[in-house]
Amino acid sequence: MSHLPPALPARTASPECLAELAALVGDRLATGTAIREQHGKDESFHAPFPPDAVVFAISTEEVSAVVKICARYGTPVIPFGTGTSLEGHIAALQGGICIDVSRMNAVLEVRAEDLDCTVQAGVTRKQLNEFIRDTGLFFPIDPGADASIGGMTATRASGTNAVRYGTMRENVLALTVVLSDGRVIRTSRRARKSAAGYDLTRLFVGSEGTLGIITEVTLRLYGIPETISAAVCPFPGVEEAVNTVIATIQSGIPVARVEFLDALQMKAINAYSKLSHAEIPTLFFEFHGSPAGVQEQVEMVQALAADHGGTDFQWANAPEDRARLWDARHKAYYAGLGLRPGCSGFSSDVCVPISRLADCIVETRADLDASGLLCPIVGHVGDGNFHVLFIVNPDDPQEMETALALNERLVQRALSMDGTCTGEHGVGYGKMDFLETEHGDALDVMRSIKKALDPANLLNPGKIVRL
Ligand SMILES: Cc1cc2nc3c(=O)[nH]c(=O)nc-3n(C[C@H](O)[C@H](O)[C@H](O)COP(=O)(O)OP(=O)(O)OC[C@H]3O[C@@H](n4cnc5c(N)ncnc54)[C@H](O)[C@@H]3O)c2cc1C
Repeated sequence: MSHLPPALPARTASPECLAELAALVGDRLATGTAIREQHGKDESFHAPFPPDAVVFAISTEEVSAVVKICARYGTPVIPFGTGTSLEGHIAALQGGICIDVSRMNAVLEVRAEDLDCTVQAGVTRKQLNEFIRDTGLFFPIDPGADASIGGMTATRASGTNAVRYGTMRENVLALTVVLSDGRVIRTSRRARKSAAGYDLTRLFVGSEGTLGIITEVTLRLYGIPETISAAVCPFPGVEEAVNTVIATIQSGIPVARVEFLDALQMKAINAYSKLSHAEIPTLFFEFHGSPAGVQEQVEMVQALAADHGGTDFQWANAPEDRARLWDARHKAYYAGLGLRPGCSGFSSDVCVPISRLADCIVETRADLDASGLLCPIVGHVGDGNFHVLFIVNPDDPQEMETALALNERLVQRALSMDGTCTGEHGVGYGKMDFLETEHGDALDVMRSIKKALDPANLLNPGKIVRL
């Protein structure tokens, strides 16, 4: 049993539509079952919905031409980056054409003097960092998966570095977007600030393919810090670890990364990544800056941690040790799944104001423990953001019901603290039902925007807002 959205009427691509697309892109139109299934399923337990065909697009002009054909036939279009989203985002709920942009993977321009670059939407975050390594610059946003920059923009993604460098919201400067009628627009110039009209860049960041198809992205870049220092510190309890984070943020210490892993998650990553950390609540830190700046941050954080019983800092300063540490952190999802082989993962994320973080995590941990399900907690806690991984047997309806009820309570708890139902994974179809409570009348404004930009509801229909 997977999680199913409410049924929507089919809008299957007609043979005529498919024939026109084939004439346009040739053998880059795929209709085979395996490719279609792969493009209708993300990494979550949400039910898959394959598209009728997949177009592997190679240029903005081609995406525009594909959209124009689909618009003429009233056929839905679902953009696809690497398919690592977690809330049923890429499911073709009414059928239609998936536009896979992974072959649009050129880094178009790196302007080191302006600390920015422009890439095609299919470039992945690791590919970009590999490409710019010799410039002394880096791009900090790092979701656990090696996602595409287009997909990360479309989901307003973040990751471990967001506490210092922000999310995609802060790091996208401009976009090239194909609209639902095939028109191509650029949302902004490269100026670091602009007061020239509505902020269309931010409208498309986080729009999950429902307002347009992003084909090029201009991003901010940062200088690789002179000194980087990472550490792991275990704590006697969840509250002590989280209170250390709250004190760190409230003191204005510019930590680059601060990640919380609970006892179950530590057990999981020890087994999966062959590590031997204490299996108790733990914080992973990273500090960036000049040697003196890093030293000062380290001393301040060590003092705050000691106040909360965290004294056993283990340092990872060599690049290979740091890489091993963060690799283990990025694999936390798969490590969690390893706790119960054969089961599925259902990762939910919420985010609350930092002062409410300890309450939210402690109450959530108690709720999860009372359920009897295996659910590690891990989080980008410097932002007030954390994830619960529900490890469930999808064939056990009772377990699925328990997990969904726990998730519902998790979201209601976060909302009651003036938080959000998702800090970074996004809405897809999995979290749509929570938007009414979170946004109230503002959800109607979102519907109006959707209707204005996509009157025929062609772009990734059935996601974010119900029309
Ligand atoms: C192990 C693991 C760890 C993760 N950790 C994090 C994390 O730390 N932080 C985080 O934010 N997320 C995380 N995620 C979720 C996921 O990686 C992000 O949501 C990512 O941004 C999705 O990118 P993608 O290229 O895979 O997009 P896809 O899954 O292909 O698409 C996601 C959505 O964006 C739309 N889309 C894709 N490309 C375009 C485009 N060019 N134009 C318009 N719309 C487009 C799609 O239609 C869909 O709605 C994790 C996922 C996994 C599996």
